[in-house]
Amino acid sequence: MTTSEPPSSPLFAPQPAQGESYLERLNPEQRAAIETTDGPLLVLAGAGTGKTRVLTTRFAHILLTGRAKPWQILAVTFTNKAAREMRERVGTLLGNPAEGLWLGTFHALCARMLRRHAETVGLTSSFTILDTDDQLRLLKQVMEPWRIDTKRWPAPGLLGVIQRWKDRGLTPERVTPTEDTDFANGHARAVYEAYQQRLKQLNACDFGDLMLHVTEILRTQPDILAQYHRLFRYILVDEYQDTNTVQYLWLRLLAKQPDGSANICCVGDDDQSIYSWRGAEVENILRFEKDFPGAQVVRLERNYRSTRHILGAAAGLIAHNDERLGKTLRSGREDSEGEKVRVIGVWDSDAEARSVCERAESLRRQGHSLAEMAILVRAGFQTRAFEERLVQTGLPYRIVGGIRFYERTEIRDTLAYLRVLNQPADDLAFERIVNTPKRGVGPAALQKLHACARSLSQPLSAAARTLLENATLKGKLGEQISTLLATLEATRELLAREGHVVATEYLLEESGYLDMWRQDRSPEAPGRLENLKELIRALADFPTLGEFLEHVALVMEHDENAQEARLSIMTLHGAKGLEFDIVFLPGWEEGVFPSQRTLDEGGLKGLEEERRLAYVGITRARKLALIYHAGSRRIYANWQPSMPSRFLDELPEEHIARKNEGGARQQSLRTTESLFAAGPLTATPGLSPTRRPTPRPAPAAPAFALGQQVRHPRFGEGTVIAVDRHHVEVAFEGAGTKRLLSSFIEKL
Ligand code: ATP
Ligand code: MG
Repeated sequence: MTTSEPPSSPLFAPQPAQGESYLERLNPEQRAAIETTDGPLLVLAGAGTGKTRVLTTRFAHILLTGRAKPWQILAVTFTNKAAREMRERVGTLLGNPAEGLWLGTFHALCARMLRRHAETVGLTSSFTILDTDDQLRLLKQVMEPWRIDTKRWPAPGLLGVIQRWKDRGLTPERVTPTEDTDFANGHARAVYEAYQQRLKQLNACDFGDLMLHVTEILRTQPDILAQYHRLFRYILVDEYQDTNTVQYLWLRLLAKQPDGSANICCVGDDDQSIYSWRGAEVENILRFEKDFPGAQVVRLERNYRSTRHILGAAAGLIAHNDERLGKTLRSGREDSEGEKVRVIGVWDSDAEARSVCERAESLRRQGHSLAEMAILVRAGFQTRAFEERLVQTGLPYRIVGGIRFYERTEIRDTLAYLRVLNQPADDLAFERIVNTPKRGVGPAALQKLHACARSLSQPLSAAARTLLENATLKGKLGEQISTLLATLEATRELLAREGHVVATEYLLEESGYLDMWRQDRSPEAPGRLENLKELIRALADFPTLGEFLEHVALVMEHDENAQEARLSIMTLHGAKGLEFDIVFLPGWEEGVFPSQRTLDEGGLKGLEEERRLAYVGITRARKLALIYHAGSRRIYANWQPSMPSRFLDELPEEHIARKNEGGARQQSLRTTESLFAAGPLTATPGLSPTRRPTPRPAPAAPAFALGQQVRHPRFGEGTVIAVDRHHVEVAFEGAGTKRLLSSFIEKL
């Protein structure tokens, strides 16, 4: 029994299309949040309490009561998918598809605004949005004159610094000298400035610029700000806990009307703030009442998503965080008891994949749709084992937000061709295609092109033409470049006459790009040609080439339209706001979840964010959550023993059922842990690729005293500084302080 429904459409159960009946399906608090249309409003509530539903219904309510026209509401969602769902839902409530909505992610909305005012920041409205690869290439070029030691200060790190500045709304002029001390010997700000200038020359911007430029325009151009104040009567924001500073500034600028009023409604949950690594500031929630005086705060306490056990387990876990506003969460479901959350110990990561897939298969046989199941992983590397197993067993699945179709080589090459077609000044794209397929353009020829482009202040393609005309480029190379330029010209004419689909086919054929893959003998080549076909199919869905390119730049999700019901695999971060009947949570082991990086560098704050992520994971489940931990895991070529995640200890026993599939017996956590933990004593890092730790019944965990000297196979010698039931905290001489399972440690 399968359905073709995509997974996770939390809010969009069918509802009557007209009248006020849409309000009847809400509880009194939700209703209050919808009927308080004017003035600032914050809905602060736990997972699954209907925050997103409130926002969507509020959108429809404003329209149905005639308070605003569809284009006078600004609605911000966290993903493109959520925007799509909200658009459909509003359409259903209104009885016809709503047009011209300002509804989307922060980035999509800003891209649209920036196209309208591009000249204000020295761009034209056809500017290109660069992806990470292009950004890096550009930054490396820009960095050159400073002769920065890139071993010590690698370009990706510097790009990260620049991005964080952008997240905080800091243009190069706003970066103060005190901000600019640690990176690249204090040159980071100067490089940032040069990078921004270069982007302007290319008529391009990166992702961070979309928000940064628009916020800067709103800050400095009162006329433009006034236009938007007149336009947007209502502002709605989902997942407010994950807004970063520049997003917050943008919202505040738009929301605060000249007379001080603000019709802004934000919904969020501080316990689900999981993007601080991308600059999100949960303090924005706390500041809301200060920023918008007279703000009303509504709390929703009834959870309509999950069973009592799922909620109990999640609540017990998150209670271990100190930095919380604190909220009550009750189950609002009648069938709420449900099954306990399962915690399953398995031998190793292969066994984990096998067990998850077998369970998914058997649940499907019992009548559950695969579309209602998800595997939520902490890190991308975890998906491979599941994918292999799913392919073997023939269970259809999709990687949501993972395999990026638009990032495959052949797609990126083609997009570069299309970008040059769309915008001849796009030098980064031109550089990518000029020698793909091979046209004999080596580094020397490229240097000549660059030098000429610089001296004439022209794009590379124009420089190429000049060099052909004055016969600097000649011979075979000259011929080939001249053919490329002629093909591009002919394609532009065709584009105007026949449209972008025909033009793209022509360009790929005439440029020799398709032939390049046809002649390629590698096993991937046929797949690449298929991908190119698929790209052309995708192009046909857009009215113009420009709109298609913008879509590609913004959309991170892989095709979602396959008809068959599929199991979803995605990261915990990507699962925010979604829900499924059955959720598999694999890899709950120290070093995987919480992640090794958090354990090494994150401190208490990092650990709390990981715990919030665990909370997000469990609360995605409606009916059943299954948590897995494996006794060993393959990291690159080696098998490494692993210990169960500390989060497993924090789950309240009354809401969970533990099971050990690794050994024959059903075991309590204590023995399960010791069983799996036996590995490191026999197996140290540098383990041979095939050797697995030998689980054996563990001796009773030895008792440790504070101050005792101990040894760990990996971290060396140290002193015990704290002890609890299963764990010992040790200050190691070389490796800092670690909390470890006692059976890992040897007394000295
Ligand atoms: P999250 O914090 O995970 O984003 P949320 O607070 O946004 O969750 P929603 O996704 O809006 O919660 O709602 C959770 C589920 O509860 C959805 O399936 C929704 O349709 C349902 N729901 C919300 N309110 C009600 C209600 N009053 N009656 C019945 N079901 C409801
Ligand atoms: Mg939500």
